[in-house]
Amino acid sequence: MNQHSKKNEPEGLRLTGIGVSPGIITGTVYQFASENFSIKKDKIDDDEVENEISRFYKGLKKTTEEIRELQREIGDEVGEEHAYIFEAHLLVLEDEFLIEKTINRVRKERLNVEYIFSEAVEDFAKVLSKSSDSYLRGRAEDIRDVKKRLLRNLVGKQKRSLSDIDTEVIVVAHDLSPADTIMMHKEKVVGFVTDIGSRTSHTAIMARSLEIPAVVALKDVSKKARHGDRIIVDGIEGIVYINPDSAILREYEEKRIRFEVNERELRDLRRLPAQTLDGHVVNLMANMELADELPSALTHGADGIGLYRTEFFYLDREDLPAEDEQYEAYSQVARKIAPHPVIIRTMDIGGDKFVSQLEISQELNPFMGWRGIRFSLEQHKVFEIQLRAILRASNEGAVSVMFPMVSNLNELRQAKEILGKVKIDLRKEGRNFNENIEVGVMIETPSAAMIAEVLAKEADFFSIGTNDLIQYSIAIDRVNEKVAYLYRPSHPGVLKLIEKIVNAGHNENIRVDICGEMAGDSLFAIFLVGIGLDGLSMSPAAIPAIKKIIRSITQRRAREIALDVVKLSTADEVDKVLMEAHENNCLHKTSS
Ligand code: PEP
Ligand code: MG
Repeated sequence: MNQHSKKNEPEGLRLTGIGVSPGIITGTVYQFASENFSIKKDKIDDDEVENEISRFYKGLKKTTEEIRELQREIGDEVGEEHAYIFEAHLLVLEDEFLIEKTINRVRKERLNVEYIFSEAVEDFAKVLSKSSDSYLRGRAEDIRDVKKRLLRNLVGKQKRSLSDIDTEVIVVAHDLSPADTIMMHKEKVVGFVTDIGSRTSHTAIMARSLEIPAVVALKDVSKKARHGDRIIVDGIEGIVYINPDSAILREYEEKRIRFEVNERELRDLRRLPAQTLDGHVVNLMANMELADELPSALTHGADGIGLYRTEFFYLDREDLPAEDEQYEAYSQVARKIAPHPVIIRTMDIGGDKFVSQLEISQELNPFMGWRGIRFSLEQHKVFEIQLRAILRASNEGAVSVMFPMVSNLNELRQAKEILGKVKIDLRKEGRNFNENIEVGVMIETPSAAMIAEVLAKEADFFSIGTNDLIQYSIAIDRVNEKVAYLYRPSHPGVLKLIEKIVNAGHNENIRVDICGEMAGDSLFAIFLVGIGLDGLSMSPAAIPAIKKIIRSITQRRAREIALDVVKLSTADEVDKVLMEAHENNCLHKTSS
């Protein structure tokens, strides 16, 4: 019998976290151990040392057997020469230096063997990966592979790949990387829940794009739910039930039906413009990461793609995407969304999105590190290939290009210079592209916001990336659930920055959009329209609800509210005023 038996837990086990993608779903648990599961550092008692070492030896033995088995299978199926690569893996498991170092440190430092071994391997791998010899660099990956395999055996998790799932499931994991998430096949993974995470992590953003209910920051759901358990995921309230009783199941089934009816009603608005009662039109656009999200943008009535996050192209693959492959993808989007525009953001690699083949080292502070335009300006070749593809696609539709993470004017100038050089090359090759392609800047660092008037003179449009702007201005890591309570778009400091950016852009006669998650949050719609944003770009499913709000208020009234709100002192006061405005204006009036 399950540990959450009806005797102890009459209604099943109820857990609360952060709902990051709305919707309600009931299904079967699929326990997923990410390849990059984090290893905790645990102190062990003196009398546990020998046991820890014996666990290590058992893990080594099991892993060796696994690799030998794999070697046999591969040898039988595709030939001995391919099975040979596993010899390098086996050598790592027999490496006396590594084994002795691990055991000595366990004895001396009294720490768990997973942690010590992991550190020892990482030290070794780092030395190898810095080598100028490409063979030795390749060995760094071998030993990391072996590390993962051994750790899986020590931690006792089974390897499963999300793309292998062939029945409908709800994925339960400690954490999911954006790369894990893109492997989820929408029809099979109908929801997911994780121990850690936050609303603006890219995993959460992906869930909204894929329109699958998700709850994160549940602390220990991955320990409490087991493979095959029944689970309810309420992505609206951030609630999860493991093995619920029949009364709870019925209650949630009714809630699910109510949610879906409401969604259908909202979708009926899709052919109507996002226009205020006094005739002011706001562009409501969709954010997208993968090509298969495009139909959702169309069915939800998007006025274009306000943010195409291209870095997903580079994740979870062995090679880098070639120019033609990118060109095909960008042109398809441009053609399908036409006559509406698509804003293609150049790769924002780094932060929580790593690309193994570009050898980005693990950074202590990745969101403050080598990401976005900083990365592109240094990885010239990779950047140029992408710009070539974007420019060529600009011949196929209304394509603009936008640079992420700009923190000073120099970066914008350098990026534009490279764009200029790529244009010259394409011209020489006789390729067609839009000579006047618009160049936008994402305003997502406080320094960019403070010099917005300077940037506005050299950019064709702005798009405010509030996910990052909030994390950098309030100084909170956007994926750290411990500080998630501080992540408040309604912080008056954030609202003042938005007001400043909009005014700076408009003073230079350029358009100012917003593409952070704040754009799709109903609470802020009145403020954003009132403060003067020209376009709001969000996950497609959020468009109808935001449209409904815009259609229920005048721009004049929204402006009065916005100008009052920026003068408030605390996020709580802002929330209160916006909630009242939302209820007074939106629930009663609508022009539809
Ligand atoms: C943002 O920072 O608000 C944004 C839209 O970019 P990303 O979420 O991809 O960092
Ligand atoms: Mg960003």
